[in-house]
Amino acid sequence: MARSILACFAHPDDESFSVGGTLAYYAARGIPTTLVCATRGEAGKIADPSLATQENLGEVREAELRDAASALGIESVEILGHRDSGMEGAEDNNDPRAYVMADRDEVIARLVGYIRSLQPEVVITFDPDGAYGHPDHIAVHHHTVAAVAAARDETRYPEAGPVWAPRRLYFTAISKTRFAEMRRRLTEMGVDTSAFDREDMPIIGQDDDEIDVTMDVRETVAAKRAALKCHATQFGPDNFMTQLAGDVADDLMSLESFTLWWGTPIPEGGDGDLFSGL
Ligand SMILES: [Zn+2]
Repeated sequence: MARSILACFAHPDDESFSVGGTLAYYAARGIPTTLVCATRGEAGKIADPSLATQENLGEVREAELRDAASALGIESVEILGHRDSGMEGAEDNNDPRAYVMADRDEVIARLVGYIRSLQPEVVITFDPDGAYGHPDHIAVHHHTVAAVAAARDETRYPEAGPVWAPRRLYFTAISKTRFAEMRRRLTEMGVDTSAFDREDMPIIGQDDDEIDVTMDVRETVAAKRAALKCHATQFGPDNFMTQLAGDVADDLMSLESFTLWWGTPIPEGGDGDLFSGL
C-alpha cells in the first residue's frame, strides 16, 4: 500500500506550528501529504497592515498558506472555503459563512470524499481542545473524527466514492512536561513568556501518558521556520514566535507529539514514526 498522510486543520498557519516538521519529515522521504484547511483565516488580526486589508485577508492568507506548504513539501492543499469563525465569543462567530455555522453533514461528506479518493494510511487533526480552544480547531477535530469513521462505512456517503479505512487517526498533542521545561528555560534567559497566559488562548496540553508518538523533526527546523515566515500577516516582527531564536527555539520546534486516537496500536519500540508497524 502506498503511504500517504492527510492533515485536516482550520486556518492557514495551523499546519506549520502543529505538524509542519512532521509533514516536512515525511515529504522528504517521498511520502505524499495533503493538507485540508477549512478556512482562509480571514478573521484574524493583521500583523503587518502593509500586507493585507480586512477585505483581501483571506486571499492573502491563502497565498501565504500555499507558500508555507511548498516550504514544507506538502504535495497539495485543499481549502474548504468556510469563513474563519474568530476566537470564542467574537462577532465573527455569528457570521452565516463561519465554519462553526457550517452544515455538519456537508463538511463531513467533503472530508469523506478526500479520505476515499486520497486513501491516506494516516490522518491527523487537532486534539479535542483544539490546542488552545479555538472554535474552528474544535470543529475540524469533530468533523475529521466523524469523517474517518464514515469513510470506512459503505452505508455512509455512497456518493463520495468507494470506502477507505485509514490505518490510524492521530491528534496533535502538546507535552505539558516539555512545555513547562521550555518555558522555564526561556524565563531563565529573561524572555517574557506571558503571551502563553492569554486567557483566550489557554494552552492545555497533554500528560505524557496521553502521548503515543513523538516525532524528532530537528532536521526540518529550517523548513518549519521558513514556513512560519510565509505566514507574514500572522507572525509579524513583534510576534513571540518570530522573536524566538537560538537553541531553545530549535528544541521547541524539533519535537512534535501525537495521540493515537484510533487504529492499529503502536508496536513496542515504535515511537518516533507515525507509520510504525503498518
Ligand atoms: Zn488556527
